[in-house]
Order: sequence, then C-alpha cells, then structure tokens
Amino acid sequence: MLYSVKMRSAQGGAHEKGGRHISGAERILPADQLDYAVLTMLHRAQEHERGRADFISLKVEEIKPQDVVYKPLLAFSACKADSAAEGQRTAIEELKRAGVSEEAAKHGLALVNGLTDSMRGAMVVDAESGERIDGMGERGVRASKMDCVNSRGYDEYMQQRGLTGDHVREALVLASKVAGAEGMVAELCWSDDPYYVTGYVASPLYGYRRIPVMKERGNGVGGRIFFVRPGTDMQKLINYMEEQVVMIKPEGVPEC
Ligand code: AMP
Repeated sequence: MLYSVKMRSAQGGAHEKGGRHISGAERILPADQLDYAVLTMLHRAQEHERGRADFISLKVEEIKPQDVVYKPLLAFSACKADSAAEGQRTAIEELKRAGVSEEAAKHGLALVNGLTDSMRGAMVVDAESGERIDGMGERGVRASKMDCVNSRGYDEYMQQRGLTGDHVREALVLASKVAGAEGMVAELCWSDDPYYVTGYVASPLYGYRRIPVMKERGNGVGGRIFFVRPGTDMQKLINYMEEQVVMIKPEGVPEC
C-alpha cells in the first residue's frame, strides 16, 4: 500500500489565516518509509532559509492502488552554457528541437523573464502561437501527486550520475510526470532559489536537458512553462497535473 505525505509550513500563523508560506513538500511512499519521510519533512520545515515556520501541517493519506498510473523516468543529459544569455539561447534551441515554434519559444522565455514575483505553478502556453492558455492567473497549474517507485534506488541512480541535491531530484520526477501528459510538447523551468541558477528543457522526445545557467545569481524569481499542442483539452490537462497520482519508474532501477 502507498501513502501520500504532505507538509506545508508558514510564518505568522496558518496559510488560511494569512501566514506567509515558508515551505512545502509531498512524497508518495510505502508504509515502511513513512516515519523517515515525516521526520525529514518536519526538519525541512523547521530549518528553511526563507525563515522560521510557526505553523507546520503534516497530512498522511492512503492511496488506492487503482488510482495510480506508472510512467517512465525521463533520460537525463546536459547542455553547455557559461552565462545566462547563452543558457537562454540554448533553451530556445532545445525547445525548437522538441517541437515548439520559434515564436512560442521566444514568447515563453519572455513570459518568465517578465515575472516580477514567482508563481506557485506553471503557465501553460500553446506550442505554436506562444499564447498563454491556462487562465489560472498568478497561481498557474501545479503538478503534484507524483514520486518515484523506489526512492532509495532512485537516489543511488542519481548519485552514480553525479546528480545530488533536492532540486534536480524533484525536478526530474516532476518533469517525467509532465512529459507523460497528453498534448505535452516541452517544459521549460528555472528555479526561484536565488543561488540555484540551473534550469532545464524537458520533452517526451529528448528527455531532460539540463542547462547550467539560466539566470543571474541572486535573482529570486524563477518560472515554469508547459508548452502544449494546439487544441489540448485544458481541463483534462489540469486534472492530470493536479489530481492524477503518477509513480515514476526509472529504467534499470529495481522496484522494492
Ligand atoms: P522551483 O524549481 O521549485 O524553484 O520552481 C520554479 C518555478 O516553477 C516556480 O516559480 C513556479 O512557478 C513553478 N513551480 C514550482 N513548483 C511547481 C509545481 N509543483 N508544478 C508546477 N509549477 C511549479
């Protein structure tokens, strides 16, 4: 049996009472890994660099096996870029290669570069016209309810490739769920973390392409775009991203 464990923390009271969001995390795990996951999340909430949380919510829910779908882990590879400008040019080339029109790729980058504050979710953009089509305003569309079938095996798999840290660990699982959505052409992302300048373009065709520099150091605004084929059913896409439980299976990593 699998369980969903969710944590959210805030300062100045609970989120619904006006508290400022500090951190959040979600895992989907078998019963024997629950204790460890809950403790790790509790520590993460207490030690976050955004500040000291005075409200922490932890929720554990059972997941029915029939509600789970399985998708493959995207292949990982890296591009070269020595500056933010080069990284952004590389992102445009990667997006085009994955099937996004030049106009839409450029418009997508302009949308993220134009943000003055980070959104909670992603913008959904038509991969042909470049128009934003989700209608979700400042919130955007959030991908959630995903994890890796064998977390310990996945960590080893990542370490063998020199990929350590929560950012890439979480991003590769998220990108694998996103790439499995109907109508998905590519995803573009760079982080809100002011000192994490790496980003990526991911696609069903070419997998996860890491781009070492996408923004200037110290910039605390990041963003995410899901580029979809024209005519993609938005309600179905939002439902898949936010409600469908997806477990990611890395190839060659044994299941528990
Ligand atoms: P992060 O890599 O977590 O710093 O996030 C970078 C940007 O991606 C954020 O500013 C959000 O716009 C977006 N984002 C973060 N988490 C999610 C998510 N679960 N689903 C969709 N978009 C997200």
